[in-house]
Amino acid sequence: CRHVHWVLGDQLSEADLYATGFDPAKDWVLMVEAKAESTYVWSTKPRTLMFLAAMRHFAEELTAKGARVLYQRLDAPQHTGSLLGELDRALAWLQPAALHLIEPGEWRLRAAIVALQSVPVRMHEDPHFLCSHAAFAAHAKARKQLRMEYFYREMRARERVLLGKDGKTPEGGAWNFDHDNRGSFDARGPGLLPPPEFVPPDAITLAAKAAIDQVLPDHPGDTEDFAWPVTRADALTSLDRFIRQRLPLFGQYQDAMWTGETWLYHSHLSAALNLKLLNPREVIAAAEAAYHRGDAPLSSVEGFIRQILGWREYVRGIYWRFMPQYLERNALSAHEPLPEWYWTGNVAMRCLSDVITQTLKHGYAHHIQRLMVTGLYALLLGVDPKAVHGWYLAVYVDAIEWVELPNTLGMSQYADGGIMASKPYIASGKYIQRMSNYCQHCPFNPALAVGVKACPFTTLYWHFIDQHRDMLKANPRLAMQVRNLDRFSADALTAIRERATAIRQSGGQP
Ligand code: FAD
Ligand code: SF4
Repeated sequence: CRHVHWVLGDQLSEADLYATGFDPAKDWVLMVEAKAESTYVWSTKPRTLMFLAAMRHFAEELTAKGARVLYQRLDAPQHTGSLLGELDRALAWLQPAALHLIEPGEWRLRAAIVALQSVPVRMHEDPHFLCSHAAFAAHAKARKQLRMEYFYREMRARERVLLGKDGKTPEGGAWNFDHDNRGSFDARGPGLLPPPEFVPPDAITLAAKAAIDQVLPDHPGDTEDFAWPVTRADALTSLDRFIRQRLPLFGQYQDAMWTGETWLYHSHLSAALNLKLLNPREVIAAAEAAYHRGDAPLSSVEGFIRQILGWREYVRGIYWRFMPQYLERNALSAHEPLPEWYWTGNVAMRCLSDVITQTLKHGYAHHIQRLMVTGLYALLLGVDPKAVHGWYLAVYVDAIEWVELPNTLGMSQYADGGIMASKPYIASGKYIQRMSNYCQHCPFNPALAVGVKACPFTTLYWHFIDQHRDMLKANPRLAMQVRNLDRFSADALTAIRERATAIRQSGGQP
C-alpha cells in the first residue's frame, strides 16, 4: 500500500487523521492494542477499558465509512504483546512506502518511533492542541520562570476567548475569578445533584471488557460500573449535558468534596478530550456560548476555560520542554515506598479510602481529590515521586503521561523543585475538613497532631515543615507556617516526630 497511518489509542479523531493526508483509497489505518501498555505501569481495568473500547468504536466507524483498518486486538492469537512488535508485523504485511502518525503523548514511545529504521516515518505535530511546541518555546524563551497564569492570559488574548468588547481586556474586567471558586458545601451537603451523564456499555465495549478480564485478570479496579462515553457522538452528548446541568455551579464547587459523591459539578470530559473524541476548541466554545446566553456565570465559565485553555495546554508545554530529565527529578529526596493500600482503598483514613475506592471503581477523581487527598498524603509521607507517578498513570481513565506527569511529579509532589508550582501544596487535615465531610466519618481528628486520634495528615504536615524548614522559610508564602511550627514545645515536636516515624514504619497508616 502507499502509506500506513498508525492511529494510537489517544489519537481517535477522524478530522486529525485526514489532516495528516490519509487517503482511504490508497492507505491503510493501523491500530494496535498491546498488553505491555497496561503492564509497564499496573494499569487498572477501567483505564485499559477506556482506551480499548474507544479504539474499537473508532475503528468500527472508520471501517463503516470505507477505510481499510488493520486492527490488532489484545487477545489476538500470536500477539507479540507490544506496540512495536505488532507494528513490525503490520509493516511486513503491508510494505508501505511510509508510516504516518500523529506524535504520541509519551516521550518513551515517541523516542522509540523516531529510532525506527525499518520504514520512513512521518511524524505529524498534534493538531488537537491550541499551543504548538514552537509557540510554547517562544513563550518560555522570554521568561526566567514559567507560571501558568501568564501563559493563560497570553492564550486568552491569542485565541480571543472571553475578551471584552475592545477585544483586548478580559471579559468582566479580570482574568481570574478564583476567589469566587473555593466554595464547600454546607452541613446539608450537595443536595440533589444532576445525574451522571454516562452511557451503558454496548456489545463492543463488553467484548473489550471480556478481553481485559482474560488477558489482564489480576489488574486492579473493576469495570462493572463502566459507563464512560467512548464515541465522539456520546462525548458530544456528555459535553452538552455538562454545559446545561453542571457548568453553572462548576466554579463555586470545583474544590468541594463529599463522602460517596463521585461526580459533583465537574465535567468528566478529561478522558474524552485526551483520547481526542472531543476537541478543546469546541469545549471552550460551548462554555463561552453558555456565558453569552446567560446560562452560566462568568466565574464558572472562566474557571472551566482556565482548566482547558490554561492548565491543560500549560502542562503539555512543561512535559515536552523538560522531558526526559523531568521524570528523574526528586527535589525533596523522597524515597518512601507507596503504601500498598493505594491499590485497594483498604485504609482507616476516611478521605483516602473514599477517594481511592471511587478511583478504582470508576477510574475517576476530581482535581482536589487527586491533589489534596491522595497526592497530598504521598507528599507528606515522603513517597518516591516515581512510585506516585506510577500510581497516577495507572489508575485514571484520563491518564496519559504528557498530562499526568507534570500534574503528579510537579504540581502535587513538588519533585521538580518549583517548575510547575511556586510552592509545595501542603496542608493539614483541617483543609480536608473544610472542603468535605470526610472527617465526620473518620476515626481521626484533623485538629490533632499527636495522640491515637491524631489525623495522620496533620501529624505529617507538621513533620514535613520540620523536615523542610529551610526550604519553606525561604518562600514568603510558606514562612508563616514555619513560624507556627516554632511555637510548638520541644516535647510536642518530639511527639510529632515519633508519630510520623511510626506512621511510616507501619505502611503509611497509624
Ligand atoms: P474538570 O474539573 O471538569 O475540568 C475540566 C477539564 O480541564 C478537564 O477535563 C481537563 O481536561 C482539564 N484540566 C483540569 N485541570 C487540569 C490540570 N491540572 N491539568 C490538565 N488538564 C486539566 N488530568 C488528566 O487529564 N489526566 C491525568 O492523568 C491527570 N493526572 C493528574 C494527577 C494529579 C496528581 C493531579 C493533581 C491532577 C491530574 N489531572 C489529570 C488534572 C485533573 O485532576 C483532571 O484533568 C480532572 O480531574 C479531570 O476531571 P474532569 O474532566 O471532571 O475535570
Ligand atoms: Fe482524612 Fe484526617 Fe479528616 Fe480522617 S481526620 S478524613 S484522615 S483529613
